[in-house]
Amino acid sequence: MPPLNTILSSPIEYLKGVGPLRADMLKKELGIYTFLDLLEHYPNRHIDKTKLSKIREISPNTEYIQIAGTLLHYELVGAGRAKRLVAQLKDSSGMIELAWFQGINWVVKNLQIGSDYLVFGKTGFFNGKPQIVHPEIEPFVPAKADGKNFLEPVYPSTEKLKVRGFNGRQIGKLTYTLFSQLQPTDIPENIPEEIVVRLQLMNRYQAYRNIHFPASQALYEKAMERLKFEELYIAQIRLNLVKLQRHAVSKGVVFEKVGDYFNTLYAKYLPFTLTGAQKRVLKEIRTDTARGHQMNRLLQGDVGSGKTIVALLSMLLAADNGYQSCFMAPTEILAQQHYQSLGKLVKEMPIELALLTGSTKTKERKRILQGLLDDTIHFVVGTHAVIEEVVQFKNLGLVIVDEQHRFGVAQRAKLWEKAAIPPHVLVMTATPIPRTLAMTAYGDLDYSIMDELPPGRKPITTVHRYETARAKVMDFVRTEIDKGRQAYFIYPLIEESEKMSYEDLMQGYEQVKSFFPEPKFRISMVHGRQPSEQKDTNMQRFVSGDTQIMVSTTVIEVGVDVPNASVMVIESAEKFGLSQLHQLRGRVGRGSEQSFCILLTGVKASKEARERISIMSATNDGFKIAEKDLELRGPGDIEGTRQSGALNFKIANIVNDRGLLEMAREEAEKTVTEDINLDLAKNLQLNQFLRMQKGKNGWSKIS
Ligand code: ADP
Ligand code: MG
Repeated sequence: MPPLNTILSSPIEYLKGVGPLRADMLKKELGIYTFLDLLEHYPNRHIDKTKLSKIREISPNTEYIQIAGTLLHYELVGAGRAKRLVAQLKDSSGMIELAWFQGINWVVKNLQIGSDYLVFGKTGFFNGKPQIVHPEIEPFVPAKADGKNFLEPVYPSTEKLKVRGFNGRQIGKLTYTLFSQLQPTDIPENIPEEIVVRLQLMNRYQAYRNIHFPASQALYEKAMERLKFEELYIAQIRLNLVKLQRHAVSKGVVFEKVGDYFNTLYAKYLPFTLTGAQKRVLKEIRTDTARGHQMNRLLQGDVGSGKTIVALLSMLLAADNGYQSCFMAPTEILAQQHYQSLGKLVKEMPIELALLTGSTKTKERKRILQGLLDDTIHFVVGTHAVIEEVVQFKNLGLVIVDEQHRFGVAQRAKLWEKAAIPPHVLVMTATPIPRTLAMTAYGDLDYSIMDELPPGRKPITTVHRYETARAKVMDFVRTEIDKGRQAYFIYPLIEESEKMSYEDLMQGYEQVKSFFPEPKFRISMVHGRQPSEQKDTNMQRFVSGDTQIMVSTTVIEVGVDVPNASVMVIESAEKFGLSQLHQLRGRVGRGSEQSFCILLTGVKASKEARERISIMSATNDGFKIAEKDLELRGPGDIEGTRQSGALNFKIANIVNDRGLLEMAREEAEKTVTEDINLDLAKNLQLNQFLRMQKGKNGWSKIS
């Protein structure tokens, strides 16, 4: 078989019309290095020259418009920042103003009064007259009568390129030149023919052709479909290969038996019966860890579904088989809380538990490091501190990463290196991740879902109030406290303006204090700027019920568990994202009492903020909220996935192309399960394509 795609991997300067200067610009500005890169620089729209509007038709509701007309006049007006070039264009129905604030020299050089131009742009009104600012403009050539290729591609370009006259149209010319050199065999299939045929996908050559130069809208759409599917399928193939190869070859420590530790806790010290979901997940973990291969499991559970106890039982399972466990939490507060609550549960058992964080004192730290090395410590709970190199284990068998979204992939990977045979890994999410996102960003992990809350929980009542109603809200909080309950007041922490957030928090604290004066009321305050001892004491006082009110920033967000707290007031709720609001709200509703979450906003909250708040008021279901969050924000913004590189799709979008993603996932699973080394004849081209792509992007780095 000849090497694949030799033409496509040619350097871009080999293309006719691309000299060294242009090649340089293409590389720097658009990341186009090869022929294939140029093919994958997709147009963002097509111009249909047969579809022209009349200037008279423009109304305040018109968005984008394409018109053709004669240039009557242009002149420079204004000064300083308002300096602009204004031109008049006339068609048979009326007149429109075109304006440029930038790139004026280029425009002046290229426009000719009296000539006809094709103009495309976003319409607006200025002084009551229609106007297009920074329109796309080019000499008008009437569409050919034969109607062929009437959809002309327009490519994304950059300001720098445009200023040098290298605009979207010029790029189109290059693409056209490239296509005139290519034969169908130069763009061979890269997904198995059988799939292309069965799913009635356009073939690869045709798809590239039609995404650039479609003969019709329908063909363009088929091309899009094919290329999106291809992108998702290839990504899923990679993820499934990582997963299955790990299943097949990676060694893992074997937890062969359930022993005394596990059984004793289960029989004697478990304060409740496990939910069905907890039992099911434990079974999955048990099966995974007994096979002799490394477990890599993502545990998705809604806030309050009881993930911590699942973690503890898994750690006991490790101990029963002679292995140590490490439990990582994203914040010091949370590590402390886990340390204490786990400690309480195993208090009567011969289990050595240690807490290792950034603020652990030198002497204690030394003791712990020694204990881990000689295996006298079974469990270590900690923050990032546990992944530092100096921390070495004698016998690490299990790593649990809680509230995973704050740990990067790279940090997780560090843990792999802590033992000759990589330890089993259980990653627990703080809140659910939408299915499509889990499939793409964490598709190499197996996953478990805990979709059941412990019995007896009452759904939290969530309401929206304006700040103007603060006094009433405070009255309500007081009645709850009078009933013996506790309350949270949460203030936003905006990273960019930490100082301001801090001042807001202090002001808030004073305000809360004025409504809830000492000595009748006692208030804890926790924020990121406190020394950890102070944080600790304040936290502890709230946990023990000594203080009734907790004023805090979002440091409280994750994991903290005070079942007696029944009210949460979230200040400036419009500043929080959906998942964060849900996570925060999960701090209440942990006991058997009816709980409340009050979202306070200013009267001027944006439309999106109001939508988030109405979703929060409508549902307590974290899985639903996660889906909405993804829809509202788009995949790029979901925390923790940005760096993963797994979502850098060129053309597919996991929100809009959900159906295709499911299909690609299914097909990729079939392909890989049937032929894990991809050496069947039908998978040969796929195999070669993957090898050619390797190292080209970040995929190989994802573990
Ligand atoms: P999360 O999944 O948010 O980490 P936690 O593990 O903190 O949830 O558990 C939330 C609360 O529910 C804790 O107070 C815990 O003790 C309690 N809990 C966990 N499992 C059960 C159960 N099966 N029955 C009753 N309460 C439970
Ligand atoms: Mg938790």
